Amino acid sequence: MEKLARKQIQALTPYLSARRIGGEGDVWLNANESPFDNEYQLTLSQLNRYSDCQPDSLINAYANYAGVNADHVLTSRGADEGIELLIRAFCEAGEDAILYCPPTYGMYAISAETFGVERKTVPLTADWQLDLPAIAENLDRVKLVFVCSPNNPTGNVMKRSDIVELLEMTKDRAIVVMDEAYIDFCLEESCVDLLAQYPNLAILRTLSKAFALAGLRCGFTLANPELIQVLLKVIAPYPVPVPVADIAVQALSEAGRARQKYQVLEITVNRAYLQAGLSQIPGVTVYDGWGNYLLVRFPDGDALFKAAWDAGIILRNSPIENAVRISAGSRAECEKTLTFIRNFYQSLIS
Ligand SMILES: *Cc1c(COP(=O)(O)O)cnc(C)c1O
Repeated sequence: MEKLARKQIQALTPYLSARRIGGEGDVWLNANESPFDNEYQLTLSQLNRYSDCQPDSLINAYANYAGVNADHVLTSRGADEGIELLIRAFCEAGEDAILYCPPTYGMYAISAETFGVERKTVPLTADWQLDLPAIAENLDRVKLVFVCSPNNPTGNVMKRSDIVELLEMTKDRAIVVMDEAYIDFCLEESCVDLLAQYPNLAILRTLSKAFALAGLRCGFTLANPELIQVLLKVIAPYPVPVPVADIAVQALSEAGRARQKYQVLEITVNRAYLQAGLSQIPGVTVYDGWGNYLLVRFPDGDALFKAAWDAGIILRNSPIENAVRISAGSRAECEKTLTFIRNFYQSLIS
């Protein structure tokens, strides 16, 4: 059957999500999920009816949270579907290209490959910022420039002046897609205010991380109405199941947002605990992180990753040599992980 698949798909290596990699253990710090398992009330009625394509209550709730007009919001199955919609709507297969800056999130490349859209890469600079001159030289046929901030997996945020410069550079040529999946952990860094000035800006958001709803599959694209209208042409007719909208609206209610704020604070404190503890281990470098995770460089990242895995502590290896990404989970998970890593290096020394 494989032979019947499109050539591009035959050659495709699917995204190795944390979930697909698997593992066995009781500490899961590999997928940047929230440690909080919040409860929701479900009204399971009207399931005989199709859902609205863009439920008003959900769109209004997120617009209110993001501080934009409702006509600037599109909801989809996670931010991942937002990535896909942008590529499908704006890139001609075999003609146009996307550009992104590794090391970064893997789905831009995979979605583009799936639709036969060329991928251009301009690596981040040594301090993981945008290489603007190199981007400027590589904009030929590029319709979408993906920028992840806070960047996954490095954890840093991109300089605002660079983002503005990129928006200027790409004006009337390409769309800058800011992936703000982790922005709720540092809202002051959001580019949402730039929407007023730049019609070529699109922002991806999600309930998967700070709102602790990775299993719900609910994300958003924020952009000017004209861009949103283009995406609405390609989105499926019923992308948001009724129970999903129902739960998402609860998460975005005043009470839901108060709880989110508290949980973001707690996760941030746990991240600081992990960072302080790990930086005291000789030979270990912890990079500052603005999301709910830290990138950590070890003397031998693969050995550490594997030893933790065998001990039931599941972390995420990264494309950066010797670096491992660790989600800030509950305090107990962070303590267990820190103790394990300390002992691992202690036993190597003695
Ligand atoms: C988790 C993540 C996403 C995907 O979010 P979903 O809403 O769960 O699809 C997108 N971008 C980045 C950088 C992520 O880490």
